Amino acid sequence: MASTETIEQVKERIEELDPAEAQEELKKGGVALVDTRENNEYNEAHIDGAELVRPVDVAERIEEVVPDHSQRVILYCASGNRSARAADQLRELGYENAASVRGGIKAWEAEGLPVVMPEGMSAEQRMRYSRHTLLPEVGVEGQLKMLNAKVLLVGAGGLGAPAALYLAAAGIGTLGLVDDDEVDESNLQRQVIHNTTRVGQPKTESARKTIEELNPDVKVVEYRTRLDASNIIDIIKDYDVIVDGADNFPTRYLLNDASVRLRKPVVSASILAFDGQISTFVPFEGPCYRCLYPTPPPAELAPSCGAAGVLGVMAGVMGLLQANEVIKLVAGIGEPLIGRLLLYESLGTRFTELKVKRDPECPICGEHAPEVAPEEMGKFPDYELFCAG
Ligand SMILES: [Zn+2]
Repeated sequence: MASTETIEQVKERIEELDPAEAQEELKKGGVALVDTRENNEYNEAHIDGAELVRPVDVAERIEEVVPDHSQRVILYCASGNRSARAADQLRELGYENAASVRGGIKAWEAEGLPVVMPEGMSAEQRMRYSRHTLLPEVGVEGQLKMLNAKVLLVGAGGLGAPAALYLAAAGIGTLGLVDDDEVDESNLQRQVIHNTTRVGQPKTESARKTIEELNPDVKVVEYRTRLDASNIIDIIKDYDVIVDGADNFPTRYLLNDASVRLRKPVVSASILAFDGQISTFVPFEGPCYRCLYPTPPPAELAPSCGAAGVLGVMAGVMGLLQANEVIKLVAGIGEPLIGRLLLYESLGTRFTELKVKRDPECPICGEHAPEVAPEEMGKFPDYELFCAG
């Protein structure tokens, strides 16, 4: 087949069917229906009973799908060109009875003929998330996982704001927001989910309003409270992944210990001045927060962003790295930051990665860590005192 040949020349050599003719034949049976498009196109919509053979795979896979060279084969693609070339290829391979659907599945759908669409996604959702589903690694399957996922954000402030915005845009179906604070003018330099008119409103409420305007697919659950030993198990138990954007060490240790008990993955980040760090803690697969930091630093060495300065974009950079980790965990793609601590130094624009090992003596996830009986769940020492001491 000469590469200079036009599609019209190819089509002269093969048989083309109108969609209605193709449907008539399919009803009668005895036809092998082949979809010659890419995976993502097939996933979005295809004709019932079609077997996917990507254009690049035709020569290699057609024998497997249609072993009998005398069998009737009907091929289609999006608009009838790729399937015409495939029909021509089949002819050259010795198939006697291959035809291409003129105008492809677009013409088929335009005539109101039925197609199979993925369950659980509406027409609006297929449009909204098309740039996700176009990625073979994500696809419709990955998007459906996101729509069914429940992600809890601890803190609707610096890290939580950008993370929540992008997780909402991505279509994470349920976002829980834990924060007992109200929007302050000094937050707006980095907490972009809030705005000037929301000063004085609860942060969870302000964030919920922004998310609802951005993406109606997302259900927001507000927790206007601080995590403590008495409420943490109840709050985190129904979530798949937790984003740690807490602004204090007692909450970080408490969240770590509770998430290890319940085996919940936590994507943890922190920012200060021009520096940020992030790691993903998946209980018993990698280290936990305590393996990394066995003891909390003294209070005077742990300034929160409230008191110390932080470059606003640091919240965006690190919060979005967290959102990226969450999406990978939810969709089951890529390589999570398990056992790796990623440091970002913004003035030099340098990323550094440190390996972190599980501590066999870790009091929470180590070999000798005590089993926690169900009736002991939710009982924690007083973390405020522990850290202040
Ligand atoms: Zn540990």
